[in-house]
Amino acid sequence: MDRRTFTKLIGLLALPSKKSLGEVLRNPKIVVVGAGIIGTMIAYELVKKGAKVVLIDKEIPASGASGNSFSWINATYPKKPFSYNLLSQMGIEAYKNLETEFNLDIKWSGSLEWFEEIDQQENLFTEIKAIKKYPTYTPVSLISSLEAEYLEPKVYFGDDNTIVHSESDGAIDTIQAIQIIHNEFERLGGESIFSCEFLKLNEKNGRLKSIDTTKGKIEVDHAVFACGIDTDKSLDIDTSSTPTPGIILESKPVENRFNKIIVGPGVHIHQQNDGAIILGEQDGAPINHYDRLKERPDKFPNKEFEELHTERIINRAKNFTTGLEDIVIEKISIGWRPLPKDRIPIIGRLNKIDGVYVSMMHSGISLAAIVSKLVCEEILENKSIPLLDDFRPSRFA
Ligand SMILES: Cc1cc2nc3c(=O)[nH]c(=O)nc-3n(C[C@H](O)[C@H](O)[C@H](O)COP(=O)(O)OP(=O)(O)OC[C@H]3O[C@@H](n4cnc5c(N)ncnc54)[C@H](O)[C@@H]3O)c2cc1C
Repeated sequence: MDRRTFTKLIGLLALPSKKSLGEVLRNPKIVVVGAGIIGTMIAYELVKKGAKVVLIDKEIPASGASGNSFSWINATYPKKPFSYNLLSQMGIEAYKNLETEFNLDIKWSGSLEWFEEIDQQENLFTEIKAIKKYPTYTPVSLISSLEAEYLEPKVYFGDDNTIVHSESDGAIDTIQAIQIIHNEFERLGGESIFSCEFLKLNEKNGRLKSIDTTKGKIEVDHAVFACGIDTDKSLDIDTSSTPTPGIILESKPVENRFNKIIVGPGVHIHQQNDGAIILGEQDGAPINHYDRLKERPDKFPNKEFEELHTERIINRAKNFTTGLEDIVIEKISIGWRPLPKDRIPIIGRLNKIDGVYVSMMHSGISLAAIVSKLVCEEILENKSIPLLDDFRPSRFA
């Protein structure tokens, strides 16, 4: 989708405001709960449009899934139905717009994806065929393993194999993006309160009045919840499945070895513009480990465990790559994916109290740039954007 079509689409998607201009312009006070990529970008968009915004987090920015993510931006096959795929396509364009404002580390190199198992490979091709029936989709082609090796010489794609080349995908340094956007949020007058946990909503006649936090009461007109895996617990709702863990390794920067996002068997790899190689394990912990992991740690209990897992993941990646022999891992973390029950984003007002809005999704890196713009528009102009109809929290009522 080109940028003009994208801008036109955004315009067409909005319904007229139900409020008078005076109401729209009165600079509402809004608290955003959660300083991951979603909350930080929403807070920034709101403050940019003149709202008085307080961003709170029970820890610090990027301490949740966003700081422990593989950070692949895509609109590829798992994004179904079409509305979700379209939102993701718009997500790519929204990042390109954001890059005109900020110097973000995004490498728009495309991805190469394949599986070892024949049935998974067949399923991938079926999904690609289905995407190609959508009215719009991001460019995707099937290429031979030889062609793929030409694009990515340090990767072995199998003999006589077929590889999916998704050309417009990118990978972002999410932590850096959160830092940059948070700085701008504060420069524009936004207020941040960290180590501040949301506790309770206070309402009068069904309308939000204030929230209680561990650092006191905050009077607000609106509260936006972008608290990832803690969304259900915070709002006493039932929209999510048990989060699943994933391990992310980050190397010290090295010279360029990988051009694209390599979506290989069991391990995904990309190399940031700053030279760091990121490896993401895909399988996660076996389900019988979940009890032991119920506190959802983001670190391993000791150095020995860390080294064991680092070695295991690198060895798995070495099955299909060269170029990892001498890398030094400087960060290993465990991330917990927020998972809506139906895997479709949850975006919209909560019916039970007027003024409460929720935004939770499992492809939050891909979607943050577009979702933050749409959420801001819905709240400040009291609009309902039809593109978001499939994502409303009311579907779980
Ligand atoms: C291993 C892994 C790999 C992934 N790979 C990709 C990928 O390649 N592409 C992609 O698009 N997505 C990917 N994801 C998913 C993506 O990272 C998440 O969807 C995204 O980070 C969610 O962002 P968020 O801001 O909603 O949540 P988070 O980043 O989790 O932020 C939520 C914040 O809310 C705060 N919070 C929670 N409760 C409270 C409270 N009561 N009071 C105050 N603060 C609170 C937390 O401290 C946290 O900072 C991956 C996730 C993982 C774990």
